[in-house]
Amino acid sequence: MPSAFLLDLDGTLYTEGGPIPGAVEVLASMRGSTPFRCVTNTSSRSRAAILERLHRYGFDIGADDVFTAVLAGAGAARSQGATRLAPFVAEAALPDLQEFELGGGTSGRPLSTSPDAVLIGDLGDRWTYALMQEAFRYLMDGALFIALSRDRYWMRRDGLALDAGPFVVGLEYATGATATIAGKPSPEFFHGAVRSLGVGPEADVVMIGDDIWTDIQGAQRAGYQGWLVQTGKYRADKVAESGVVPERTLPSVAELLA
Ligand SMILES: [Mg+2]
Repeated sequence: MPSAFLLDLDGTLYTEGGPIPGAVEVLASMRGSTPFRCVTNTSSRSRAAILERLHRYGFDIGADDVFTAVLAGAGAARSQGATRLAPFVAEAALPDLQEFELGGGTSGRPLSTSPDAVLIGDLGDRWTYALMQEAFRYLMDGALFIALSRDRYWMRRDGLALDAGPFVVGLEYATGATATIAGKPSPEFFHGAVRSLGVGPEADVVMIGDDIWTDIQGAQRAGYQGWLVQTGKYRADKVAESGVVPERTLPSVAELLA
């Protein structure tokens, strides 16, 4: 039995349709027996909104149990001394960035001066040429380039959908800059989540997720195990193509109850 679990949310514990069958019970059985953290790259909601959704789905979970890329992005901006931030994240995620002077992007406020940092998240079909152009100009003027994720796609109700990655890579291509990735698969993100569990460095930590690159390869590169679930965005052909070999592959997270 692993000493601690890191659990992805979207595609692993729930999808747009509701909780993955058995996931609520898995989390309930872990509580009090095995330390865990939920780690998500979702940048379409604040942590409070993510919690509200988890509670609606029946998960017994608190704010401290959830690590998000938006909070990690705020930490990255803070540690690099940024105070003025141009956010390109959904309005619903802005409450987690209140410590900064927000302007431009999706903040709904004008910028007084150029931003110290640009924060790129998943805007879905809200992306426009104008927003990409605005982010491009800030980056060319020297703003720090912080991306919440570089994820390629996720499983929406109607099928696979582009995530933040294609837009991040587009901006990298245009500017020649490389984004700092705040969420998964950044090793710092994984280490931060593990540290918060209070387990020692020798601990046998398992990351469970549906993204072969972000969840599985990311965890393995950080020194943890990666267990792949065949729910959410899972596709056998993409896994084979990736060359990444998960320590275990499970039909779903519910397998942990067996
Ligand atoms: Mg996922």
